[in-house]
Amino acid sequence: MDPGASSTSLVDPTGDSERNVSRICGVCGDRATGFHFNAMTCEGCKGFFRRSMKRKAMFTCPFSGDCHITKDNRRHCQACRLKRCVDIGMMKEFILTDEEVQRKREMILKRKEEEALRESLKPKLSEEQQKVIDILLEAHRKTYDPTYADFTKFRPPVRSHPSSRGATKSSSLLTQDLSSEDSSDLFGSEAFSTFPDSVEPPPFPSLGLPEEQDESSSMNLEFSQLSMLPHLADLVSYSIQKVIGFAKMIPGFRDLSAEDQIVLLKCSAIEVIMLRSNQSFTLEDMSWTCGSNDFKYRVSDVTQAGHSMDLLEPLVKFQVGLKKLNLHEEEHVLLMAICILSPDRPGVREPLRVEALQERLSEVLQSYIRARHPPPGSRLLYAKMIQKLADLRSLNEEHSRQYRCLSFQPEHSVQLTPLVLEVFGNEIS
Ligand SMILES: [Zn+2]
Ligand SMILES: [Zn+2]
Repeated sequence: MDPGASSTSLVDPTGDSERNVSRICGVCGDRATGFHFNAMTCEGCKGFFRRSMKRKAMFTCPFSGDCHITKDNRRHCQACRLKRCVDIGMMKEFILTDEEVQRKREMILKRKEEEALRESLKPKLSEEQQKVIDILLEAHRKTYDPTYADFTKFRPPVRSHPSSRGATKSSSLLTQDLSSEDSSDLFGSEAFSTFPDSVEPPPFPSLGLPEEQDESSSMNLEFSQLSMLPHLADLVSYSIQKVIGFAKMIPGFRDLSAEDQIVLLKCSAIEVIMLRSNQSFTLEDMSWTCGSNDFKYRVSDVTQAGHSMDLLEPLVKFQVGLKKLNLHEEEHVLLMAICILSPDRPGVREPLRVEALQERLSEVLQSYIRARHPPPGSRLLYAKMIQKLADLRSLNEEHSRQYRCLSFQPEHSVQLTPLVLEVFGNEIS
């Protein structure tokens, strides 16, 4: 005997152990239907006990007072049957009065009605909304490779350590050998053939604050060792291509004018890259981990591509905040699509059409959160996601500032790819 097991079945008669209890009537041995008035009995003995108690019946045994009750003879001696009922633990206190029965019935009915009401009020995704989500999921899966296998095709990452000057020198020689010409066929503009040269990049707030001039000139020292620039330029160029591929599959995007498609992509590309990179971002060591150690990017790696903490600190903060939202993949892809279809980008010619598309996507997102995202994660989730879009605007601005600074340096802009120059702007030409 296992004392633990037996005590469990005593403590929890209605739990899992009930299924293991032999379903045999303790009174007559017939098949039992469950616990009735505190004992496992059949329907017949349950009814007999209730009737007897209600009638306050007094029975006398016509035999010797110790009849053995069976399924077949249980009607022969009511006295011994009732005695058996009490012996196995049946209690009249468990019998409900008629009022109680009525109340219980009403309660069950009410609960069923409430359940039906809840079910009918439960927000559901329409068939059309579900279709939009399916298309976006498919678009994302076609354009985001979670194995990061293509990263080996980029110019290799070179991490220079400021302490070892020799290594820095040799690595910068290496990066010069692997000039951007080698990869121009990989990242040619044909991938983005709808980009006419005439489209101007969005206007930037004029810069000219003395301290920023100072910063950029002091960054010149850093610039001479931007060992990660070729690799990260290729990575960004590759990501832009994927963002374009994703955008093209957003329902309605291709119906916009070519000019608006271009403006939307140019303005949102870096924001969507920051959004999608959250998939590889890990809170464990605050890095973007894309497969092997070679493709694990820390803040220090990005500074070696010419970006300063003015961008990287808020960027990492953004990644942490976004990661902590624990978005479903459905929400993640909707957020990227909503970001791309922002009607307020400078230069959009038909903002109302863009707005209608964005509006539809944000309705899908809100419905999705209501229908599929359980609390507490869903609490204020939509508002938090929209706030992330606002954060992306300032990250975008800071990125543009730093990109301009970098692209002013011919020795560094030559490391960029044609697509990067086309999308982020070519300050030299
Ligand atoms: Zn029975
Ligand atoms: Zn009897």
